Amino acid sequence: MAERKKIKKIGVLTSGGDAPGMNAAIRAVVRKAIVNGMDVVGIQKGYQGLLAEEFIEMNSRSVSDSVQKGGTILRTARSEEFATEAGRNKAADICRKHKLEAIVVIGGDGSYRGAQSLSSAGIPVMCLPGTIDLDIACTEYTIGFDTAVNTALQAIDKVRDTSSSHERCSIIEVMGRNAGYIALWCGVASGAEDILLPEKYNYDEQEIINHIIESRKVGKTHHLIINAEGIGHSTSMARRIEAATGMETRATILGYMQRGGSPTCKDRYYASMMGAMASDLLSQGAVNRVISYRHGEFVDFDIDEALAMKKEIPESQYEIARALSR
Ligand code: ADP
Repeated sequence: MAERKKIKKIGVLTSGGDAPGMNAAIRAVVRKAIVNGMDVVGIQKGYQGLLAEEFIEMNSRSVSDSVQKGGTILRTARSEEFATEAGRNKAADICRKHKLEAIVVIGGDGSYRGAQSLSSAGIPVMCLPGTIDLDIACTEYTIGFDTAVNTALQAIDKVRDTSSSHERCSIIEVMGRNAGYIALWCGVASGAEDILLPEKYNYDEQEIINHIIESRKVGKTHHLIINAEGIGHSTSMARRIEAATGMETRATILGYMQRGGSPTCKDRYYASMMGAMASDLLSQGAVNRVISYRHGEFVDFDIDEALAMKKEIPESQYEIARALSR
């Protein structure tokens, strides 16, 4: 086997939606890279900052006091320019100019596709799953999901209390873009009566209305519906449900509060392990890999292979969620 070229200098960026734990990942990438003898440049504001050459030299102190903080110290952005062929070629030229031999990308599915295009333009990449949505197929864990579901759950519990007191129906909309993982976990954990997931919802509101009427008959004092962002329309749904059932119905859209806040221990720990693994792989010359968590272990996949994978909400878990909500 040909000997792999030793990588001496890498860049690290966070891209797309921010997620709690991204800082722990950046910190681990930087500190482990330094231990492994590599130089690290922090690229601010994702691919947009790469195109604008918003670079900062990173040392161990650059990531001090960040592990416990939400958001991302490197900041993040979405870039339309980068998504074009001209944009990605320009980004690759900038990497070559600054002698960046590989870029660590911490982000979601869109950022992974951006990384894949950067690698096809000749710049090796290493990806870490940074998204609260848990919607990256190759991994059972994504950085930020644990914090986001716990943050959402605290809010849901509070709304549940007041729903019971007032004998209301509450529709609480949680994030997740087109994926229903946040809704599923929060729905089960909050004891919701209905959990609406984009992957499973049949848009039959009459079913929900019948469920509310039945629940009232068996003595339930409130009716909690967890709705996923991918379904949306919680406010108009609330109006229709109230009109059909006569039960006062309120919609609460949790929104961006789910993306902020200090990361949980799990998010800090997993992000630290994944960040360190990224720098270790790069220092061994492995590139175009994505770090994942599968079957209780941190593993890595080829980026093309990872992006071709599909992931679905396990039917058995969805069935359990439904059974428990009756
Ligand atoms: P996330 O990474 O959280 O899924 P986005 O989907 O917004 O967030 O992606 C972040 C950035 O990644 C985009 O602004 C764009 O620059 C880049 N990107 C997304 N999709 C692609 C793609 N198919 N090809 C190239 N770049 C992409």
